Amino acid sequence: MTGSELHATIQAITSELQEQPANYDVFALDGLNDALHDNQYKHKLFLQLLVARRQLNEHIDKGGATTWVVWDQSITKITYDECTAQQAADQYVADGDWGEADSTMWLTLYAHTPLLPDRSNETILIALDPSEPKCTENQAHDWQSPIAIVGGIKSNPGVWGHGSGVITKQVCMQCGCKKLQIRTRKIRPQEIKICEVSSMTRVFILTN
Ligand SMILES: [Zn+2]
Repeated sequence: MTGSELHATIQAITSELQEQPANYDVFALDGLNDALHDNQYKHKLFLQLLVARRQLNEHIDKGGATTWVVWDQSITKITYDECTAQQAADQYVADGDWGEADSTMWLTLYAHTPLLPDRSNETILIALDPSEPKCTENQAHDWQSPIAIVGGIKSNPGVWGHGSGVITKQVCMQCGCKKLQIRTRKIRPQEIKICEVSSMTRVFILTN
């Protein structure tokens, strides 16, 4: 079954169960036991619901699309259909107004599948980068590491050790922008800082 078929199946069984008179929560884990002691029809429905939920869990674990509710520290929750949790989070970031920052902003987002109340929330970390300064005549930057400008050692100019990672310095040969790239093995794996060599007043931090 596809994600949308599983979705429709779960919704159909859930509404059928909700229409059955019951004094217990049909979504609760102990609902099955309650249903078992209630009547056979409800018990059958509940078993079908559990099977469909398990199939949807497996479908998601294999990277399949489904419906996600996404939120961050704010109270805004948005629902996205037919996507993965990562795609839903990317869309949430694209839909939001995060303002202009002069350094990388890390957003921690949470995604939940409303059809799977027992599944843990997904936590997705997204780096929101400021715009890179434009190069001359709207060309792409030409990043290089001339030792006279970036320093370092001859065999590997502009590269230094940094904790468990490395710092790389590069300069654009067209506009003079300087890029400072920090790579670590931590949860926030990579940062790039770009500043204008000429004035050194603007600092931009980006992430690859
Ligand atoms: Zn440039």
